[in-house]
Amino acid sequence: MKTMTCRQLGGPCDLAHRGESADDVINAQDRHLKEAERAGDAAHLPAREEMRSRWRHPKRALGWYRDAKQAFADLPEE
Ligand SMILES: [Zn+2]
Repeated sequence: MKTMTCRQLGGPCDLAHRGESADDVINAQDRHLKEAERAGDAAHLPAREEMRSRWRHPKRALGWYRDAKQAFADLPEE
């Protein structure tokens, strides 16, 4: 298991996501941003917009996913 925070994934807070793979924490961040948007949390809106634009432009988003996966790979195992 490894831990990545909202901030490490481009968000504004230090909420920690734990997962076995980069996809786990990326999906957890996705859910976290959707919940923050529903809760009317303005601080998370820019990150939410970025997440949305990654869905719309998957090719352009590849660099972001590569960076996120690399950052995850570089983390120590817990
Ligand atoms: Zn957050």
